[in-house]
Amino acid sequence: MQTERLLMIPGPSPVHPRILNSLSLPTVSHVSPELVEELKKALDNLKKVVFCEKGEAFIISGAGTLAMEMAILNVIKKGEKFLVISQGFFGQRMVQIAESFGLDCDLIEREWGKAVLPEELEAKLDKEEYEAVVSTHVDTCTGACAPIKDYAEVLKGRGVHFIVDGVCATGGIEERMDDWGIDVILTAPQKCFGAPPGLAVLVVSEKAIEKRRSMGAIPAYYADLLNWLPIMKDPSKYFSTPCVNEIRAFYESTQIVLEEGMEKRILRHARVAKAIRKALIELGFSLFTQEPFLADTLSVVEYPEGIKDQPFRKTFSKNGVVVAGGLGETAGKVFRMGHMGNLSVSQVYFALDTLERTLTSIGFSFIPGSGLKAAKEILGE
Ligand code: PMP
Repeated sequence: MQTERLLMIPGPSPVHPRILNSLSLPTVSHVSPELVEELKKALDNLKKVVFCEKGEAFIISGAGTLAMEMAILNVIKKGEKFLVISQGFFGQRMVQIAESFGLDCDLIEREWGKAVLPEELEAKLDKEEYEAVVSTHVDTCTGACAPIKDYAEVLKGRGVHFIVDGVCATGGIEERMDDWGIDVILTAPQKCFGAPPGLAVLVVSEKAIEKRRSMGAIPAYYADLLNWLPIMKDPSKYFSTPCVNEIRAFYESTQIVLEEGMEKRILRHARVAKAIRKALIELGFSLFTQEPFLADTLSVVEYPEGIKDQPFRKTFSKNGVVVAGGLGETAGKVFRMGHMGNLSVSQVYFALDTLERTLTSIGFSFIPGSGLKAAKEILGE
């Protein structure tokens, strides 16, 4: 049997034992009272996580990419143009989805490690009309966090639909759907909710639902929100068999989020991020992502001279902590460390202690104990 390692990749994040236990509850009928109640509560909880009172929540078997596709196909039709604000890899994926369905989109982006500024968005919108603006909140590849609230401010009064990819943010970084005027937040369970992967999760404003109703047929069937809406309103109805166990686990994860409380959870993510970064810098690493775009959910960390990607990550993993490598232009130059979901302070300390042991075993010199000490100054003993 493989020994358990602490998963500090940028998703899936470590799954809390309460959530794992829910996953192993019996596979009840998808229209049973148990599942009806848990799905209903999960939908309500989800709306609370993104501060949405009106609007509709959707929890559907799939993945974050299905949620991306659903957000686009249910709000934008052929002949309409939308704008993608890209913070890196996942913004590019939005463009690929548009291309796959023959939809017309423009792209604004900055170099990896930075996010598009609100004034750049404003300048673009002053020049051209768009039906929707789509932005990744946190790009899991570059670690850049977009100023979503400021984008929303720019969009106010323009009648544009605002779609946010919150896969690496929702449940860990503030997203206020009603107050800010976001029309769709799409996300997935495996990051800040700390549940296993396997669901497409969306919260959709009344305005966006109205838009979908006005569109007639769309090039989607399983991904058509109107096929799912009656099920989300009354889960005892059938459209397609949901992944019962995954929904039970996701329900538990939303309970954990709300037991902690969103305000506290957001602050905890910020403190943990700060502590981990301080420790990493103390040990001789630097950050790939630029201030003020650092995401509270993951760090993209540049290697100092003398540390090679593969041997470092292999040894770190053998010692008990799994981190991810860089993608695209950052491959081999950085590692990506997730710090989101239900990660505890003792898990953070375990990771930093293991990091120091790893650095020692690969012969990298640093002041022993300095990383842990830096983190403890922020998180306490
Ligand atoms: N958007 C972002 C920001 C992501 O990080 C990811 C997954 N890493 C996705 C979308 C796609 O999600 P999935 O892998 O569940 O399809």
